[in-house]
Amino acid sequence: MVIKVGIVSLGCPKNEVDAELLAGFLKQSGYSIVDVAANADVIIVNTCGFINAAKQESIDTILNLARLRKRNAPPYILVAGCLSQRYGRELLQEMDEIDGVMGTNEVASVAQVVDRVLSGERVLAVGAENSFHQDHRVRDRLHYSPTAYVKVAEGCVNCCSYCAIPDIRGPFRSRPVDPIISEVEGLVRTGVKEIIMVAQETTRYGLDLYDEYKLTELLRRSAAVDGLKWLRFLYSYPTSVTEDLIKVIAEDSKICNYIDLPLQHASNAILSRMNRRGSKEDILHLIDKLRASIPNLTLRTTFIVGFPGETEADFQELLEFMGRVKFERAGVFAYSAEEGTPAASMPDQVPEDIKQAREKEAMLLQQEISDANNRLKIGQEVEVLVEGFDEIQGRYYGRTAADAPEIDGQVFFSANRVVAPGELVPVRINQADEYDLTGELVL
Ligand code: SF4
Repeated sequence: MVIKVGIVSLGCPKNEVDAELLAGFLKQSGYSIVDVAANADVIIVNTCGFINAAKQESIDTILNLARLRKRNAPPYILVAGCLSQRYGRELLQEMDEIDGVMGTNEVASVAQVVDRVLSGERVLAVGAENSFHQDHRVRDRLHYSPTAYVKVAEGCVNCCSYCAIPDIRGPFRSRPVDPIISEVEGLVRTGVKEIIMVAQETTRYGLDLYDEYKLTELLRRSAAVDGLKWLRFLYSYPTSVTEDLIKVIAEDSKICNYIDLPLQHASNAILSRMNRRGSKEDILHLIDKLRASIPNLTLRTTFIVGFPGETEADFQELLEFMGRVKFERAGVFAYSAEEGTPAASMPDQVPEDIKQAREKEAMLLQQEISDANNRLKIGQEVEVLVEGFDEIQGRYYGRTAADAPEIDGQVFFSANRVVAPGELVPVRINQADEYDLTGELVL
């Protein structure tokens, strides 16, 4: 009898890649991957453990799935991902609903872990050793999409004072270039049109392995893959954005003129409390260079407000900075104290109501900026990567090269012919709001 395994993946694109590796290794060992609800024998919950809200979502997901079954009967529940890497032993002790826990370094041995769970063992497989599966050719896509993430490295060495990732995922480790190129070629052969390269600090790619930054080479070689239409990367760090990288983005038409540059704040006092490299002046200098070098650049960033010690003056400095730079895309998050991080025990914690008020005020400012940017697109013809058809609204949807999936806006459009997911089509924009665009297919 073939054992059916269902996988639920939470959190970031890097976790999504891990989930597809889990699926590939299980298939390689004779398991079949099914939709979770389709009476799976084993359900793997690939959790996120980044911030409190994500941890809560992971625990709620486990409890909801556990309600699907009677005690000690299928589906067995195996917890994987960052939450189990961080709290594996506690989860097993405190949650009877769980039949096994495995860490982020055990991805390649998932089949053995499932074997043990099926044999009735309550498994704790969380190794400290920072292994990192390099060869992703085993990866099995969980659902079709014209877009695929490619994880080019694991871990982080930056130690931002509010972040637990280095403790969870270990130090920064790049994958070699060739296996990544093979993975890109393999994904494009399955019909993928857009590749998004991700890591904790993607712009640091190669430094640990080759003693030099290698993202430029990786992008150049990936962009040369026939059939690939769009190539982008997320999670840049200001101090590791090189001249070569800026040049390759500006020159290669397949590489989206899109830079995701999480900055977290603009006040030098707060940046140093966050243990972030690069001053506000350095960042402004970089942004001026990016805007001057890359035509029609879409600049995305994220900010944390309410960080311990943030004064009203620091916050006003951030608003002034946002108003000056006018990021095309920006997310603002209220600081959330992460257990075990230096920032969590810092003095001058900001009261919750002030945090929420600052998050709201900064997001309102960003909505105005984004709305003004989007209104400039009315009357323009934009290229859209089709992602699907919304039955309820009776219209297609997709994204422009200026929009990353899940975090940015969408384009909704009518068409007088059937268009398929993965097609790149011209759409004339006739409406815009602060996030999304609306239009019609150009004949
Ligand atoms: S760069 Fe900073 S915030 Fe990002 S993963 Fe590394 S330590 Fe965390």
